[in-house]
Amino acid sequence: MLLTNQVAVITGGAGLNGLGFATARQMAAQGATVVILDLARAEPAAAAARLGEQHLGLVADVTDKAACEAAAAAVLQRFGRIDVLVNNAGITQPVKTLEITGADYDRILDVSLRGTLYMSQAVLPAMRQQRAGSIVCISSVSAQRGGGIFGGPHYSAAKAGVLGLARAMAREFGPEGVRINCITPGLIETDITAGKLSDEKKAEINATIPLNRLGRADDVAGACVFLASSLSAYCTGITLDVNGGMLI
Ligand code: NAD
Repeated sequence: MLLTNQVAVITGGAGLNGLGFATARQMAAQGATVVILDLARAEPAAAAARLGEQHLGLVADVTDKAACEAAAAAVLQRFGRIDVLVNNAGITQPVKTLEITGADYDRILDVSLRGTLYMSQAVLPAMRQQRAGSIVCISSVSAQRGGGIFGGPHYSAAKAGVLGLARAMAREFGPEGVRINCITPGLIETDITAGKLSDEKKAEINATIPLNRLGRADDVAGACVFLASSLSAYCTGITLDVNGGMLI
């Protein structure tokens, strides 16, 4: 197993059809003890219980620095270490440039970008002390190609910001044994997309993807396991595209 004795924290991991929960499931199957962080309404404890009693669900809003610190402290108190952080929490809003309000901008950037910073800040002291750790940040193909079907320009900006933040942190913490990498998923079938695409629209999108299908949450989860584990021991600051070839 790839993650035996490892403690993995996954933000936004409570949605049973989401990328975060698929990652939690795969990491637990690889021997990790998983901590799911999410908003109260997403019921992280119930999601963690589905993985088995050794796993933990905690309520934390990643836009709240104190909540991120409290969550990291609770994980350290319970398990004594944090080996993996997956910055997965994110929200989107399908609007165009001229429609974006200041409040929209703040909301989208706060969850994806500020949340990635705050959770990374919360776990980095422990990882630095361990002289080991892997942080995986979920960006998006929207950051690379400029916009998407479900994300507005502010979402693209937030996810592009995640790429820059992750690379800067990778440079800073590499010498201390902490690796920080990004995944840029393409269009993945989750609650964000479910029921929102007609069969015709799906066929139209599939025709633009060399692998000729939308992604599955498990496609992204597998990439997270790779980046969390020693299989990627010499990778830091990389961006792993999981998009079916959309950008070729
Ligand atoms: P999802 O809505 O199932 O998951 C997002 C999770 O984040 C939810 O459980 C939600 O409760 C949680 N969350 C929202 N705000 C939060 C906050 N302030 N604090 C803590 N948790 C919060 O969506 P998903 O499709 O699984 O998306 C997961 C990640 O992947 C997101 O960052 C998304 O932007 C990214 N992504 C998704 C796709 C896709 O096609 N589905 C493509 C590229 C990137």
